[in-house]
Amino acid sequence: MECATGSNLWLSSFCISSSSSRRAPLNGNACSASFCPKTHKLSPSSSLRVEAVGSTPTAANLSPDSNPVARPGSKVSVANPVSKSIEWPSPVDATPFWKREFPSSDVNFEVPSNTEKDPDSLHIIHVTAEMAPIAKVGGLGDVVTGLARACLSRGHTVDIMLPFYECIQKEQISELTLITSYGSFHDGNWVPTNAYRGTVSGIPVIFIEPSNHFFKGQSVYGGSYDETEAYLFFSRACLEWMQVTLVQPDIIHVHEWQTGGLPLLYWDMYHNLSLKKPRITLTIHNMEHYGECRQEQLDKCGLDGSIYATEEKAVDDRTVGHNPERLSLLKGGIVYSNSILTVSPTYLKETLCSGWLASTLLRHRDKYVGILNGIDTDMWNPATDIFLPAKFNAKDLEGKKLCKYYVQKGLGLDLKGDSIIKGDNTIDASVKVPLVVCITRLVAQKGLHLITHAIKRVEELGGQMIVLGKAPDRRVESEFKYLADLHNQGPSVRILLIYSEELSHMLYAAADMVLVPSMYEPCGLAQMIGMRYGAVPIVRKTGGLADTVFDMDNQSNREMANGFVFEGIDEGSLNWALDRAFSYYRENPSVWAGTVRKVMEIDNSWNNTAGKYIDVYNSVRVR
Ligand code: ADP
Repeated sequence: MECATGSNLWLSSFCISSSSSRRAPLNGNACSASFCPKTHKLSPSSSLRVEAVGSTPTAANLSPDSNPVARPGSKVSVANPVSKSIEWPSPVDATPFWKREFPSSDVNFEVPSNTEKDPDSLHIIHVTAEMAPIAKVGGLGDVVTGLARACLSRGHTVDIMLPFYECIQKEQISELTLITSYGSFHDGNWVPTNAYRGTVSGIPVIFIEPSNHFFKGQSVYGGSYDETEAYLFFSRACLEWMQVTLVQPDIIHVHEWQTGGLPLLYWDMYHNLSLKKPRITLTIHNMEHYGECRQEQLDKCGLDGSIYATEEKAVDDRTVGHNPERLSLLKGGIVYSNSILTVSPTYLKETLCSGWLASTLLRHRDKYVGILNGIDTDMWNPATDIFLPAKFNAKDLEGKKLCKYYVQKGLGLDLKGDSIIKGDNTIDASVKVPLVVCITRLVAQKGLHLITHAIKRVEELGGQMIVLGKAPDRRVESEFKYLADLHNQGPSVRILLIYSEELSHMLYAAADMVLVPSMYEPCGLAQMIGMRYGAVPIVRKTGGLADTVFDMDNQSNREMANGFVFEGIDEGSLNWALDRAFSYYRENPSVWAGTVRKVMEIDNSWNNTAGKYIDVYNSVRVR
């Protein structure tokens, strides 16, 4: 679908699109966009000063009384220690500001080399359906990339094996080379398959490209092929590649149901052939998706499906006695892996107490560990982020104010409030309009009714709210589209039903608060990324949110206090947290400023947690 450009249409009707810059991931349908190269000049001064450029408006044009939104392409440079001349965006720009061309050379995505090395080096191969930024749909992609980079920097050898989705932009891969052509089994045939090697974000990646229709389409998921069969094929193709090339890592790290069939294939097939050394680690990122599988689908990848149809192996316990019974690839993966991880200690406890897989996990409790995810602090760094119009850090937040102003201006939000740069070049702090962002997949897990309620409540409280989300379900999409049509021409709410990595960076930077009202949340990255960018989190107390956000009003834990936490799933509970956040923001500016600095300094990096993964790898490896 073609994006409507050159008008407000992108605000009102929202093309469902992926972003198209060089580093953009390819979720959703492609949407054409023309690039608009910019010249960026470094500004020498460090004050928040507004100066007119060429024939463009004077500083007075940016006063609250003026209407800068009505001036498409107005060029105003704002001096900032690290910002460039900013070309202020407008909602009527032909190219939305998040689709401009971004400099790629500003950020060094090489793996950091100054990290202390672990004494005993491992070879780890991740086998995964997602990898950020080239094939990212949600947190899984971020986690695989972040963990791989952290382990590389600690001196380990790490590879990622990924399906060569048709939608991956090849320009995002360095040194892409065909390394192996071989056959991999599917449904009685050996399918000619290519393996390519390339580098993404400093990580060696092996791309598996079958010659059949698997992994073709415009997005990572949802192509017109049977996903269960495709990922079973991929799992076997990865093991086959290791066998053909004689590569035997210490650890094969599989993720989610998509690669849950690999441990079965390994122990019941490839370990009896040539692969002896590897041990298998499975990370469960979200128990909701358990990989429903029929016996015939397992047969097609060369296993005997009937062998796994037992409660001890892979049968979905809820279907016992039904005709036919179903299997679960995730359950098979749990049973057959040497170690199982999930992404936060609280989610580990929750999964042991509820859900049909709890009994299987309890049976395998001794190999089940909860390790909090980290975030990649090079990729998510407001001091160097190439997508931000102005950079900032915990000690100098001027750039954050500019980012807020930039986003408000670009989306046509009302410019009254504390981010406004007045004619005398100062920020007008008299009207306090906090900006709340919510960046999420729009699925039931994420608390859809609370997100829609928050839109209403934030408006009532005189704040502003931006939702950036994509809904895989058409009904949810049309509900949010209705809300978008209702609000997007107004002064205080924007709902953008798109996937855009670039815009997400800008929104985290612009936000005063980041909202994560999930019904359940295995770990959650949005609250951690938000904090890194100085957005104070408002979260529901569940899973990893409970492990990372601690309430400001909990007197017994003042040291950890870093946000606003509510427990109920009702609107009143959310109101309670939102209202408190707004009143801190408005009535307690010094505490608020201290909290912004504090959340930015919290170390949620992989450096903190990768060591725990290494311990798990070491506990199962063969020496
Ligand atoms: P989940 O894995 O359940 O989707 P997480 O919080 O673990 O949730 O990770 C979500 C990741 O996806 C974050 O990096 C978030 O910024 C990103 N994300 C979610 N929706 C969008 C979107 N519409 N556009 C850009 N990034 C998004």
